Amino acid sequence: MAEYKEIIKLLKMRRNELERRINIVEQDIRKPHPQDSEEQALERESDDVLDVLDEAARAELNQIYNALERIKRNEYEICVVCKEKIPIKRLKALPYTDRCVVCA
Ligand SMILES: [Zn+2]
Repeated sequence: MAEYKEIIKLLKMRRNELERRINIVEQDIRKPHPQDSEEQALERESDDVLDVLDEAARAELNQIYNALERIKRNEYEICVVCKEKIPIKRLKALPYTDRCVVCA
């Protein structure tokens, strides 16, 4: 697993960053809304933006969890579709991928 060391480091760094960001977004969403209706509308809008960001961050986070799990199970280099080996070069370029070039 030594050849994955750099990839694991990158994945974990990204995971920590995303988890931190999601926590901040959730705290912001839970903030009570101001009573004034105009301000309320503005708050709603910014919450919508946060929701989208949150969703993208969560999707990426899931891919990271998946990749780390695959590394742990020693399946990281195996394409989920054709079961062929995914070249390490591809994994380094696309650390979340679970498919070889042919199946992607
Ligand atoms: Zn494949």
